Amino acid sequence: MPDYDQIKTELAGIDIEDHPALVKQKSRDFYWYSPILKAQLDHVTADIVVSPKTEEELIKVLKVAYAHGAPVTARGGGTGNYGQAMPLSGGIILNMMQMNAVKEVHPGRVICQPGIIIAQLDKYLKEHSGQEVRFHPSTAQTATLGGFIAGGSGGVGSITWGGLRDLGNILRLRVVTMEAEPRVLELSAWDLQKVSHAYGTNGIITEIEMPLAPAYDWVDVIVGFDDYMDAVRFADGICRRNGILLKEVAPITAPIPYDYFTRHKPWLKEGQSIVVLMVAPHSMEPFLAYADKMKADLRFRSDTVESMKGIPHAYELAWNHTTLRALKLDTGFTYLQVQYPGPDHVAKVQKMVEMFPGEVFGHLEFLKFDGQIQCSGLPLVRYTTEERLNEIIRLHEENGCPIFNPHRYTLEEGGMKQTDTVQLAFKKETDPKGLLNPGKMIAWDNPDFDFKAGKNYLFPGLQSFTEA
Ligand code: FAD
Repeated sequence: MPDYDQIKTELAGIDIEDHPALVKQKSRDFYWYSPILKAQLDHVTADIVVSPKTEEELIKVLKVAYAHGAPVTARGGGTGNYGQAMPLSGGIILNMMQMNAVKEVHPGRVICQPGIIIAQLDKYLKEHSGQEVRFHPSTAQTATLGGFIAGGSGGVGSITWGGLRDLGNILRLRVVTMEAEPRVLELSAWDLQKVSHAYGTNGIITEIEMPLAPAYDWVDVIVGFDDYMDAVRFADGICRRNGILLKEVAPITAPIPYDYFTRHKPWLKEGQSIVVLMVAPHSMEPFLAYADKMKADLRFRSDTVESMKGIPHAYELAWNHTTLRALKLDTGFTYLQVQYPGPDHVAKVQKMVEMFPGEVFGHLEFLKFDGQIQCSGLPLVRYTTEERLNEIIRLHEENGCPIFNPHRYTLEEGGMKQTDTVQLAFKKETDPKGLLNPGKMIAWDNPDFDFKAGKNYLFPGLQSFTEA
């Protein structure tokens, strides 16, 4: 067990929090979204929280932690929903939110620190240069850019720009290693895959260069349909109108919108499924022409309501916010993350809708995937048992709809269910003692783990309940 009193002495001058209740608070994220992760991780807590303000302070933290063999788990806004930022073996929470400066803004790109809140970055960019980040998670108001890159995948704007995995959607990352003498590395192009979506297991991001897009006063729009599949077909169709600029397109089945989108309820119609959209102001007229042709029932547009006070952004009805809104009023829900590979994605959606009536409720996000319009899903599921949830997952996969399991805390099980050799090789170089966010990369802890055996991985170093 590392000597945390000694570590605190050696880190004198850097912000440290050791009050157990506050440390516990900073040791959680949105893991409770999953009833399975909630049961597995509820007791997990770090020993101290350290909040560096500069790269020099951060390097000192890593150096001291390395010398003492203390685990270090980076944390941005703590909005990850698979326990990504939870310190499974205790240790140090590295709170990145004080490293939040915007350093340079240029036409088409920004250089900033990782702890900046994405919505604040966008506000600054719009005011100073008329630009915005290409896409952001629906948690933009609370999530950091560094946490998004290390833990997220895509979001609002992905209909135009694709996701973080796409070459060119991150330009450069500056990363500090976890060694006796931490090194500072600059990564670009293909090398970015080493640390993006690696949950901070193989380096701490200290600077980010991101590409930008023109900023608009996006119009929030909701259209209604009596049949969910009509909403899905409308969404697919509008995404193919090349001239109409959209930032968000999300069909959501009845009864979810009317029952759970409380602030928008005055505009919604009971029994209707909806499509939530963000439309560029200059695209509103052609958008409305298409909506009229497709017999969409226009329920809401933010540019004509009297006041938007108290009404959430449209994107806060979409992505994982759909799940959040339902869970707030009904804890009997959980969710899945589904891919519907094209070109027959609409047919695949229809098949899944028909397979689980009253149990799985459709919610899709349209996005660009390898240059093609496609959709992925975050359907809500009426949770009964883990066995039934696994059966629903199996039935999706047997029907050609892969699941990215949001009920697992490891990189591999929540993703492609195979070793990421690039990230593993980089970890060997940058974190030789395996101290960065332990337990999140199976390939590091158990290289022989058989992903095809159908067993869940339980990290042996997970704090035991008696330790907590
Ligand atoms: P955290 O949760 O604090 O951290 C995420 C991961 O990054 C952790 O593993 C952490 O260790 C690591 N990390 C943080 N900072 C650094 C750093 N500087 N260096 C290295 N590693 C670091 N995700 C999406 O992709 N798209 C969405 O639309 C989306 N919508 C969401 C909606 C809701 C309601 C919720 C609860 C979650 C959603 N998510 C989404 C997941 C999550 O919000 C995003 O991935 C978010 O960007 C994470 O940012 P964060 O600052 O909260 O990161």
